[in-house]
Parts: sequence; structure tokens; C-alpha cells
Amino acid sequence: MGRETELPKEEGEEKGEASTLKYIDFLSSVAPDRVCHVCGHDKFVACLSQHGPQTFRVTIPEQDRHPFEDGSEPRLDCYAHFCDRCGTVTFTLKQLVEERTHGDV
Ligand SMILES: [Zn+2]
Repeated sequence: MGRETELPKEEGEEKGEASTLKYIDFLSSVAPDRVCHVCGHDKFVACLSQHGPQTFRVTIPEQDRHPFEDGSEPRLDCYAHFCDRCGTVTFTLKQLVEERTHGDV
């Protein structure tokens, strides 16, 4: 009883926070005055989980696919955020966020 103590953070949770910050930092550094291209609103909601930004795998319709020689399917791993007013979803290439650091635009 008595004082509440904070549970030690899971390692994955800390990594999640770091990658969330990296994603937010990326978005604000490449386009600080970002507005929604549909309605002009300037508030967005990032799709996050406790493990950091959620990864969305964007695939190509089966009839249009031309698999790579190694048999893997063409795909893009993306992070996403959506407009707080009209709901337009914007995908950002995960690889680009991972490779860039602040100021390296
Ligand atoms: Zn909008």
C-alpha cells in the first residue's frame, strides 16, 4: 500500500516512443506548414500503437502484380496519418522515415 510506483517500461515500449518521435520529427521537418490537400485543415492524427507508428503494407492488386525474381511481392511499407477534419489518409514511406534524421532533409 502507500505510494504508487511506476512499472518499469518494457524495452519495446521505449523503442516505440523513440520511433513515434522520429516519425513526428520527420513530418514536421519535411513539411512544417503541412495542410490537408483536400480540405486545407492543419491538424492531423497519426496512426500509432504502443510499439510506435503502425506499419501499413500497401500492396498492388493481384492482376497488376509482377512478382520480383525472388518470388516476393511488390509492396510498400508505410506509416499513416489522417486529417482531423475530413479524414483523408496520407501514407509516408517507412523506409524514408527510418533513413533520415532531423535536419537531413
Ligand atoms: Zn482534410
